[in-house]
Amino acid sequence: KRIDIIPVFHHILDRFEMNKAELIHFERKIPNERIFVWVDQDKITQVTDNIVSNAIKYSPEGGKITFQVVKEPHRLKISISDQGLGIDREKVDKIFERFYRVDKARSRELGGTGLGLAISKEIIEAHHGQIWASSKEGQGTTIYFTLPLTKRKRGSRK
Ligand code: ATP
Ligand code: MG
Repeated sequence: KRIDIIPVFHHILDRFEMNKAELIHFERKIPNERIFVWVDQDKITQVTDNIVSNAIKYSPEGGKITFQVVKEPHRLKISISDQGLGIDREKVDKIFERFYRVDKARSRELGGTGLGLAISKEIIEAHHGQIWASSKEGQGTTIYFTLPLTKRKRGSRK
């Protein structure tokens, strides 16, 4: 379905800000305009929820979480940045593999199965978008994902 995605993102962030016992506040760099994308709203909500909950879960001392949406010529680029533990360079691409968890002992304490990002990747790729991470150990993590701004025609390979 073709939906205006901006209120969907605000709604997700509002829900995190309201429900969490800790004080969670997002810096929102989100354009104040209507941006339509062809997506399954529940699935994109699931992806966003997982990435935001990771940003919270892996930032034990809190810190700023920035949620940014940038409109590029043919795609929408969403990024979620935290100031948490970070991930070292050799491991950063593996976090999208099923059941992969950096530092198993630490992750076990925090709970989870290691499936969140693998599922997110499947969903984003099914929407013809990309998902990737950039991180420096000890300096926080940014997860990016994109969504196409134009609908692909059936059978078109463009
Ligand atoms: P689940 O999401 O299934 O509950 P999970 O959070 O461990 O469990 P993923 O969301 O797939 O699984 O993340 C995989 C691993 O990537 C995590 O265990 C963690 O080690 C690392 N990771 C993900 N996001 C961050 C982040 N923002 N900062 C630091 N490490 C992260
Ligand atoms: Mg997760």
